[in-house]
Amino acid sequence: MRCLVYRGPMDVKIEECPRPEISSNEALVKVLACGLCTTDVKTIMKGHRYIKPPCVLGHEIAGEIVELGENVKGFREGERVVVAPYVPCGSCYYCLRDQHSLCKRLFEQFPRPGGFAEFVVVPERILRKGLLKMEGIPPEEACLTEPLACCLHGMKNLDLKPLDTILIIGSGPMGLMLLQVAKLFGASIVMVSDLLDERLEVASELGADFTFNPSKEEVPERVRALTDGRGADKVVVAVGSPRAISQGMSCVRKGGTVLLFGGFPPGTVIEIDPNFLHYDEVNFVGSFGFSPLDFSSAALLIKRRKIRFEKMIS
Ligand SMILES: [Zn+2]
Ligand SMILES: [Zn+2]
Repeated sequence: MRCLVYRGPMDVKIEECPRPEISSNEALVKVLACGLCTTDVKTIMKGHRYIKPPCVLGHEIAGEIVELGENVKGFREGERVVVAPYVPCGSCYYCLRDQHSLCKRLFEQFPRPGGFAEFVVVPERILRKGLLKMEGIPPEEACLTEPLACCLHGMKNLDLKPLDTILIIGSGPMGLMLLQVAKLFGASIVMVSDLLDERLEVASELGADFTFNPSKEEVPERVRALTDGRGADKVVVAVGSPRAISQGMSCVRKGGTVLLFGGFPPGTVIEIDPNFLHYDEVNFVGSFGFSPLDFSSAALLIKRRKIRFEKMIS
């Protein structure tokens, strides 16, 4: 079969690899679509501290089951599925405290060799909790279950409540999904800021109530004007830049929460006035990855056609 092999920064090649064999507890999936995640792009451009070449990237996988191990139950050959890139172990300290994305053994099993290949093996643990049927859903949409699951996980950590006002900084594909999730979760005002006007136009089309371009206007003033002078209840920083964090801090209200959703370049340092946390009771939270519940909820949202992806698929 053909695979896109990552051999080092700026070095990827389509190569012929042996078609993988499955054990009696595994499944073989023919890949019909695989999303290209920012992590993949960053790895290809600059390398990644944990992803070592040579390997096959791609973790947003949708496809069709073509072979099942003899012990596998509950699936049939020919079924359309989405494959989670990882599933927590269920028994470590973090798993037992429901913090699944921090599982110590999260990456122990993964679809082999990776999504940018013609076929992937779904290992046993993923088969149990991370292989979901997506009949009737175009594979290009089904494969976006993983990034959407990350958005749901972020919203959980942010503790978004109905009627909250929210500012999302960054209107890339993740920002566009986050804004739709915020709407679905009942946010009363969804504001989006981005440096590119064309992205803001898409955000408006997808339901953003207000959009701002920080290169042209004072975002904190706009946010305050819309929130009786307070600032947003919740802020999501969906851009990996420290400037976006300071913008988030200047837009959140007292007692509000700022979520650091994206990753930041290694070595990034930010300055915070501790009194801002003490007197203003502002909360900082992070979010990484997703739990099996986030993944299955994301799949459900996609199956019920609650998220519009057409502007994100090119
Ligand atoms: Zn991803
Ligand atoms: Zn665990």
